[in-house]
Amino acid sequence: MSRFMNEKYSGLKEYTPGEQPKDTVYIKLNTNESPYPPGPKTIAAVTDEVMASRLRLYSDPESAALKKALAERYGVKSSNIFVSNGSDDILNFAFMAFGADGVMFPEISYGFYPVFADLNMIDAVNVPMKEGLAIDPADYAGSGRMIVLANPNAPTGRALSAKEIESIAKADPSHIVLVDEAYVDFGGESCIGLIDENPNVLVVRTYSKSRSLAGARLGFAIGNGDVIADLEKIKYSTNPYNVNSITSAAGIAALAEDDYYMENCRKVMETREWTEIELKNLGFEVIPSSSNFLFAKSEKIGGKALYEKLRERRILVRHFDNPLICEYNRITVGTPEEMTALIDAVRDLIGENV
Ligand SMILES: *Cc1c(COP(=O)(O)O)cnc(C)c1O
Repeated sequence: MSRFMNEKYSGLKEYTPGEQPKDTVYIKLNTNESPYPPGPKTIAAVTDEVMASRLRLYSDPESAALKKALAERYGVKSSNIFVSNGSDDILNFAFMAFGADGVMFPEISYGFYPVFADLNMIDAVNVPMKEGLAIDPADYAGSGRMIVLANPNAPTGRALSAKEIESIAKADPSHIVLVDEAYVDFGGESCIGLIDENPNVLVVRTYSKSRSLAGARLGFAIGNGDVIADLEKIKYSTNPYNVNSITSAAGIAALAEDDYYMENCRKVMETREWTEIELKNLGFEVIPSSSNFLFAKSEKIGGKALYEKLRERRILVRHFDNPLICEYNRITVGTPEEMTALIDAVRDLIGENV
């Protein structure tokens, strides 16, 4: 920290993103990206020359066309939609806007939540996990704080039902229940249907995982009109042009070929089931996953050792040093070929001959 930096940030521990190696020799199963490329319409949209020639102009601060496309896709109004430069951006805005009474989230969840709490000087309660890293909705009911739940959760992959989340929302209608649905397209149940009856439910989504656009940086939120207007207020006080024209075009085009992306999600789920069975056959304990990754551990090899040995073999998975989960690795589901290579490497490493 230089002597110029505001001291209030001296204790801030920043988020550590998963490794993005500069060479392509790795089978990359560490940051939950899609193994499939963007669809042809999406690629055509971002390489369109007319669109490129318009880059001299600012992007539409209202992102009206993108919101309209999203509203149609999800059966809500444009006024129920907020868009931003990745869903991390939206999470930060939401902590800023709705965290005045403090926040509560599971002890094992997305690593950015505690960072956003610190950044915005918000008191955070970490709720211990139940057996098998499960979440008990009763722990979150009536806390008097904003609740933040990744559903399906990361890095466990476990999902709650919309009914369970609704019970949390109804228990404390005066605080926001933020449902981070980054992985919902891989088998979770969305809470979008709750927003009419429960104006305190705010659903946050991203194009990064299920729509192959992590590098485009596009997230959106769906919620009650007044809640969305609050997020707009923060946005217009931060960066009115928070979604660039290229990303906006990609986001609209992706929805025009959404069947392609949803089919990719189906393929990922199928590959996930295959990988889960293979890992279990090798003696791994695997948490039931509704997402595009598996969280697994084995008595035969330590979590860190497995991570390091796979890395030597040019396979990257995600390991967390937190003692509660350090025996696990989070393995993104890739293509069938990539998962076959993973399983072969794991089998080799634990010296099994199954
Ligand atoms: C990946 C992820 C995000 C971030 O998504 P971006 O839109 O790429 O910023 C948010 N929440 C969870 C739980 C994630 O896993």
